[in-house]
Amino acid sequence: MPRPAGILDNALAAVGNTPLIRLSKIAEQEGLKCNLLGKLEYTSAGGSVKDRIAKAMVEAAEREGKLIPGKSVVIEPTSGNTGIGLAMACAIKGYSVIITMPNKMSLEKEATLRALGAEVVRTPTEAAWDSPESHIGVAKKLEKQIPYGIILDQYRNENNPLAHELTTGPEIIADVTATPSTPERPSSGQVDVVVAGAGTGGTVTGIARAIKKTHNKSATIVACDPQGSILALPAELNKTPTNVPYIVEGIGYDFVPDVLSREPGLIDTWVKTSDEESFAMVKRLMRSEGLLVGGSSGSALAGAVKWLKGTEEGCRWAEKEGANVVVLLPDGIRNYMSKPWFLEMTMSPEPTPLAQKIASVLGTP
Ligand code: PMP
Repeated sequence: MPRPAGILDNALAAVGNTPLIRLSKIAEQEGLKCNLLGKLEYTSAGGSVKDRIAKAMVEAAEREGKLIPGKSVVIEPTSGNTGIGLAMACAIKGYSVIITMPNKMSLEKEATLRALGAEVVRTPTEAAWDSPESHIGVAKKLEKQIPYGIILDQYRNENNPLAHELTTGPEIIADVTATPSTPERPSSGQVDVVVAGAGTGGTVTGIARAIKKTHNKSATIVACDPQGSILALPAELNKTPTNVPYIVEGIGYDFVPDVLSREPGLIDTWVKTSDEESFAMVKRLMRSEGLLVGGSSGSALAGAVKWLKGTEEGCRWAEKEGANVVVLLPDGIRNYMSKPWFLEMTMSPEPTPLAQKIASVLGTP
């Protein structure tokens, strides 16, 4: 359903309700007959899929009487996007915010957090999750010692997967079922496959619940996990290469968060992804589809294509005209423009044919 016309009360009313977009050119380049569809989360007010859980966690804490305007200090360990959502919600509602974030996360995220009035504490990327120096350890220390400090805790808070079960999943179902099947654009009329990266695992868990409980219990849910992380199952998948540091932000962990469901039959399969294939896919999403997505969007789509072309079940879906394969694209490239991988991709010293033509017209080297 299109959003009804009308004035919104504040930025939180512009969280979610993101578009589902055909990735026709990439599907064609890859020889996929199914519909390849991207859910574009950077159009949410704070710029990512994590706005949804930030809003849900703050509103639930308010209902439970845990937050006091003008006094409460919301503290959260995050790879940045949950922090941005929380800082946005708290700017509107009048709570202070402290975000603890590993050093590897982009300067753009820190700048956005500071713009929204949050304090930012950086922590060593290599610190194990349960060490006192990690972003989680530092947040806990601050919570103990700062009056009215409270960690809403995206790793454990049921409102994390619930926000996706109640919004992201139903939006996907509504957009797919509202689109008629035509000879030019055949559709099975249902969501057949969903592919999403996992950080806390809240997104993939919540979407899987929404789809399997209310829409299509035989849909296939594919989760992506970067090489170097330990979230994938079976655990052997995580062995090679072991514990390599990876650059992509927001997905992968060195522990399994409580909100990542291990319920049998919910998440059907896992795919490991590399930085290299993720960033190559970001470039293709920008250049072929005009979508300004971030690194983990490249991971999700690279994982999707790898699964669709490299596994027996994936190939069956890839060959099926009208099958709807939805890929979650969590945030935007504006979060990463100072990152070397982005600069190398876009500011390449290799001149394009058009750049050579410009140089010859202008007489510049
Ligand atoms: N991509 C990005 C850019 C993120 O910030 C996150 C959140 N950590 C994810 C993917 C994964 O989402 P989730 O925590 O719901 O698994």
